[in-house]
Amino acid sequence: MRILVTGGAGFLGSHLIDRLMIAGHDVICLDNFYTGNKQNVLQWMGNPKFELIRHDITEPIRLEVDQIYHLACPASPIHYQYNPVKTIKTNVLGTMNMLGLAKRVKARFFLASTSEVYGDPEVHPQPESYRGSVNTIGIRSCYDEGKRVAETLAFDYHRQNEVDIRVVRIFNTYGPRMLENDGRVVSNLIVQALKGIPLTIYGDGSQTRSFCYASDLIEGFIRLMNSDYVGPVNIGNPGEYTILQLAKTIQDMVNPNVALKFEPLPQDDPRRRKPDITLAKQLLNWEPTVPLQEGLSRTIADFRQRLGSEVVASAVLR
Ligand code: NAD
Ligand code: UDP
Repeated sequence: MRILVTGGAGFLGSHLIDRLMIAGHDVICLDNFYTGNKQNVLQWMGNPKFELIRHDITEPIRLEVDQIYHLACPASPIHYQYNPVKTIKTNVLGTMNMLGLAKRVKARFFLASTSEVYGDPEVHPQPESYRGSVNTIGIRSCYDEGKRVAETLAFDYHRQNEVDIRVVRIFNTYGPRMLENDGRVVSNLIVQALKGIPLTIYGDGSQTRSFCYASDLIEGFIRLMNSDYVGPVNIGNPGEYTILQLAKTIQDMVNPNVALKFEPLPQDDPRRRKPDITLAKQLLNWEPTVPLQEGLSRTIADFRQRLGSEVVASAVLR
């Protein structure tokens, strides 16, 4: 198949491309390199089955493809809040352009939605039937309301234009290739521990998240895309940890001498989050396989290598 991956040079998109290339597909990676980079797809450059296009999805594009995995959108609060109007445009205009493309070429369309559509949830854990508790005018709204509109667009194109859609709601995911300056909790804490600077905990650290390792998530993507179920389907790891527990785990694994530092909790920070994955288990026979400790140690090894080579590179430049 010829498969388009928007946001393919980013963290999750590049792991997905690895799986699709290994399976023998023709893959087009579309990215504006806002938070993604060529390094993530370097291993496929020069392969005749791989094409990299620098393009911003807020502008239309004409391509001929069989499937579209639509991931383009900054995912970390610091990146999506840097230019919130652009984030909304990416989610609304960008998703509309990609759905228009799917409609024209009759491609199956996969939307990477998010657990953020549940906002600061009053129902715990969150099943797909929960409609969410989202602030329409807060600093996270450009992202979570943007994704809610993206879901609406996908279902309207499905009902009105028979576009064949799949919608996944992704819960916090971590793994190799996260950016050093990504701003998300796992990457922040690992980078701080490796550099020996205090680990930043926002609030008192009692808020919870559930962390899924990237390879588990990508397996869920591929199963949903190739199933008959439209969605939405939660994909995430139901293991729930407080941020303080996560910080102490990373502290123990990397550097027991590093201090913990408490900072103010950002506005609208959800108090708890944990996926109900009953649907994914039943429909896709999917559940996560990589325990937190193991996923963290692989992620720590990747950061250790990248931070180490940066030190070498800057030494050479000087
Ligand atoms: P990422 O920031 O690493 O990747 C996003 C990619 O999209 C980047 O390569 C970026 O350059 C590209 N992009 C952004 N705006 C674009 C535009 N206008 N045109 C073209 N390309 C653009 O983030 P990620 O963690 O890989 O997330 C991928 C998708 O998964 C996003 O849609 C995100 O909302 C969703 N998601 C991720 C998580 C997570 O924990 N990682 C959780 C929920 C949802
Ligand atoms: N967080 C933290 N220290 C950091 C970065 C994040 O305590 O250095 C907290 C953040 O306030 C939130 C949780 O960790 O409660 C997860 O944050 P992240 O940005 O990774 O994901 P999201 O809030 O989008 O789920």
